[in-house]
Amino acid sequence: MKIGFFGVGHMGGPMAANLVKAGHEVVAFDLVPALLETAVKDGAKAAASAAEAVQGAEVVISMLPSAGAVRGLYLGNDGVLEYIDQSALIIDCSTIDADTAREVAAIAREQGRAMIDAPVSGGVGGARAGTLTFICGGDEDAIDRARPVLECMGAQVFRAGDNGAGQLAKICNNMLLAIHMIGTAEALQMGVDHGLDPAVLSDIMKASSGDNWSLDKYNPWPGVMDNVPSSKDYEGGFAVKLMNKDLGLALQAALSTQSATPMGNLAKSLYAAHGNHGYAEKDFSSIQIFFRHKEPNSSLPLGFQRQSG
Ligand code: NAD
Repeated sequence: MKIGFFGVGHMGGPMAANLVKAGHEVVAFDLVPALLETAVKDGAKAAASAAEAVQGAEVVISMLPSAGAVRGLYLGNDGVLEYIDQSALIIDCSTIDADTAREVAAIAREQGRAMIDAPVSGGVGGARAGTLTFICGGDEDAIDRARPVLECMGAQVFRAGDNGAGQLAKICNNMLLAIHMIGTAEALQMGVDHGLDPAVLSDIMKASSGDNWSLDKYNPWPGVMDNVPSSKDYEGGFAVKLMNKDLGLALQAALSTQSATPMGNLAKSLYAAHGNHGYAEKDFSSIQIFFRHKEPNSSLPLGFQRQSG
């Protein structure tokens, strides 16, 4: 298939590369020329403009940082929606608010174009390995059409409901992820404060009722697991600033339905403070540092002190 691909950053780059590996013709566009060059090295063609990337495309995929970027790409002054073939399928994989996802899809539908939201879970590692989970919202027919393409980049494709439902399911998941990452970091620090070995404590909790994904697959204590951001000075992975974006989307969604999300609110406060302490670009498991003592036996953990350490 001919696929127009927008946004070849941390996630979109490896996703586009996997589409090429699966035999698709990928025409990529990004605002950053260096990222386009990398995409070309991975076998994609570079488009000189957004409009060029959608020319003749049977599928259009976007993997952009924000709702503003998605709105701008499809509906902005030089928006590409009107240049996309009527028979093409549009798949937005960006994590954005459900209202924007619904609005853009509704405008596409009015013009006779099919569009779904398909945000992902699995991070950069999953994007590289082609094991992402796609959490889709949209018509069943459109999602069935998307499935073979999505399966070149991921291991699981879910339909959460109509347009926007994919975004809602995704932020429910990420709110829970933030909560269990914080809980895991807090428990590990308390154990270590009492002289426990973090690796032994992790093994015990993994075999007990405290087991969870953050503990088991993404341990935040440096050195407990290989090949996770905590063992690489919290580099790579899923940035604190992106977790803050997703928590903001979750709280916005909670407000609109008056849902009670006290744990989500607390998670947002802690991640916002952590980002402001200089960790915005670090992986979200660096929240472990928030609970670290500046000096042994000092009463205030780092995150609760004014300056970062
Ligand atoms: P990124 O910033 O690395 O990549 C986004 C890319 O989009 C950038 O290269 C940017 O130049 C490009 N871009 C912006 N506007 C554009 C436009 N109009 N046309 C073409 N390109 C444009 O971000 P990322 O980490 O790849 O994340 C992308 C999306 O995936 C975000 O919505 C994020 O929340 C979500 N996500 C990220 C992760 C992760 O671990 N990084 C995990 C799950 C979901």
